[in-house]
Amino acid sequence: MAKLTPEVDKYTQKLREKIQEAGYAYYVLDDPIMDDAVYDRLLRELQELETQYPQLIVPDSPTQRVGEKPATQFVSIQHNIPLYSLENAFNIQELKSWQERWQRQPLRENQRPTSLLLPLSEELKNQNSIDESDQFATVSSLTQVTTESHYDGMDLAAIDYVCELKIDGCALALTYENGLLVRGATRGDGIMGEDITQNVKTINSIPLKLKINNPPSIVEVRGEAFLSTNVFENINAEREKNGETRFANPRNAAAGTLRQLDPKIVARRRLDFFAYTLYLEENQSEFSQFSTQWQYLELLQKLGFKVNPNSRVCSSLNCLEAYYQYWDKERKNLAYLTDGVVVKLNSLSLQKKLGFTQKFPRWAIALKYPAEEIPTIVQAVTIQVGRTGALTPVAELKPVQLAGTTVQRASLHNSDRLAELDLHIGDIVIVRKAGEIIPEVVRVLPELRPKKAQKFQMATHCPECGQPVIKFRDEAVTRCINTSCPAIVRGSLAHWASRAALDINGLGEKLVEHLIDSGLVKSVADLYNLTVKDLISLERMGEKSATKLVEAIATSKTQPWRRVLYGLGIRHVGTVNAELLTQKFTTVAKLRQAKPTDIEAVHGIGPEIAQSVAQWFQVLANQNLVARLETAGVIMETKDSKDNPPKEQSGLLTGKTFALTGTLPTLKRDEAKSLIQNAGGKVTSSVSSKTDFVVVGKDAGSKLEKAKNLGVKHLSERELLDMLAASRI
Ligand code: NAD
Repeated sequence: MAKLTPEVDKYTQKLREKIQEAGYAYYVLDDPIMDDAVYDRLLRELQELETQYPQLIVPDSPTQRVGEKPATQFVSIQHNIPLYSLENAFNIQELKSWQERWQRQPLRENQRPTSLLLPLSEELKNQNSIDESDQFATVSSLTQVTTESHYDGMDLAAIDYVCELKIDGCALALTYENGLLVRGATRGDGIMGEDITQNVKTINSIPLKLKINNPPSIVEVRGEAFLSTNVFENINAEREKNGETRFANPRNAAAGTLRQLDPKIVARRRLDFFAYTLYLEENQSEFSQFSTQWQYLELLQKLGFKVNPNSRVCSSLNCLEAYYQYWDKERKNLAYLTDGVVVKLNSLSLQKKLGFTQKFPRWAIALKYPAEEIPTIVQAVTIQVGRTGALTPVAELKPVQLAGTTVQRASLHNSDRLAELDLHIGDIVIVRKAGEIIPEVVRVLPELRPKKAQKFQMATHCPECGQPVIKFRDEAVTRCINTSCPAIVRGSLAHWASRAALDINGLGEKLVEHLIDSGLVKSVADLYNLTVKDLISLERMGEKSATKLVEAIATSKTQPWRRVLYGLGIRHVGTVNAELLTQKFTTVAKLRQAKPTDIEAVHGIGPEIAQSVAQWFQVLANQNLVARLETAGVIMETKDSKDNPPKEQSGLLTGKTFALTGTLPTLKRDEAKSLIQNAGGKVTSSVSSKTDFVVVGKDAGSKLEKAKNLGVKHLSERELLDMLAASRI
């Protein structure tokens, strides 16, 4: 057992309290105070701590309990068979570990407490004798072990699973006696639930009478009550109109509705229900032929229940993964919310032999969809200096899985944002992928802050060159203003050589670093003095590569003027603005002499951009740079109408429809969109059979998949830029 420090003890206590508070708000008040993914992650953190320090486990720890004790306004009932929760997996690897785990588990007979189904009349007699403090003893007595056996002769690789959608609603236990609905109950804490029979009777998809002629004398049906997203939106709209607060999500709205004291309100809210399992009394011979979960789903349908039509049987991990990924993409098209996939062993006898832990069945697991927001710990803060000299604080995080990738760094943007967050090193923070791509810190959980956590102070000196940094009054950003700062030179060179700028093949970030470290290059203009001899003096640079690079640098001199202007890296001058400016100012001399008002006169250029351009040309170091580039032969004018033709002639893309997906290497979404539109193309937000091209970047989304299915042609950014260049010839 690991040695427990007072720090860890205190932290665990705080974590437990925070999770308990969230659980109460969620399960009892139906008014969550945090995102589900954040709750899940905090619970995982607590589980990990309890595994490392088992002495921290207390009986009321959220890791040991299912849900919450029922609220008091309804009559509490004890479930005949406990309603367990489900273990969570957050990726395929965790699903695989679960598979390995259940396969190692010894099989035991008689683990399912089916014989405890009692008719209500008898059960009521026993109700008064329930001792609440004995709840967990009750669970373990239900899962009593009698005999053990092993997997002799069983082909584990061929075992079937049923995959079901995990409906994001509230579990209900419905008891039918001789075919008639006699009780509907909530899950509560799994042992004690609330009797909400009157409310349950208002749900149209729950039969009041089973549809078969010879119903079992007693049966308990379990399933999920939920609100469709449409109905949920209507309820919230009505609540807003009445000055009431909106429900946070359909699950909480469904839970709140089920607990309404007035069944008439429940009836109006149009709850729905999917049944997913049932418990029969043993010895009901006519039902004894059922041996799989799949057959149970079929039986539920025969009994008159709605069963989710998207369930499937799978026997391999690949099939489970395909099902999970398919529904991760498709779930947005469903009329209700699903927060994951439930994987269950199909064989009922295997289920019975595997039994339950104190909280979960061992034969089922919920594979949750990737979260959009997740908590993690800030281990350090580093500062990056960009090519404009902007200092960006970056949180170095304990790695977490977020929306399908591992995140270990997140931008903290600037010193204003840092102050707003009041970030301390050691804090638990919530991280999100902004625009689904770049991770950023959304908020801090100060209530979980360790005692010794140090507040992060923004640097007063540039971490790259050691010069004092400046924060201008009207800016949130802190800047290094030393133009020879290696970070600024590095950034400017990499930008100059990038594809959308001068496109110098072979001049990547690593080589830029070598060139600066070796002292061969101190500014962009120095590139044009490099010789093959200079370059082969660099480590791992052969004569062939050196010759190629010198040629590529020479070729870059003939790049169009708009690319050169973009390559200069003037603030606010991206590819689109560079294009607009060079159409009007066809030489660098014309732009250098232009007043801000002249620049602003260009359609699409605002005062801030105009100021930025004019100011840039006033700085002596920039004037020298332009002069040196001109001397080196870099063309800074529009040679002929081919380079910058009037818009109406740029019709190669006219009539062509594009869609964009993922992050492009150099162009921002808006820039790519404007470039296509300026060349006569149309950009749509979704892919259809009418789309001609899909421009694909890193971490492409579902549009790529759809494009593949429809046979739409893909383009990389490079191919797009080539196409745009061709459209001007
Ligand atoms: P759970 O909801 O994750 O999983 C168990 C439940 O899944 C079952 O009770 C059942 O009702 C439901 N389910 C849906 N479809 C099913 C199917 N096809 N087969 C079997 N069961 C199915 O577990 P839980 O213990 O009810 O609650 C934990 C969940 O609640 C977590 O997702 C957690 O994020 C959320 N929660 C959030 C907060 C918060 O503050 N946001 C607080 C507490 C709990």
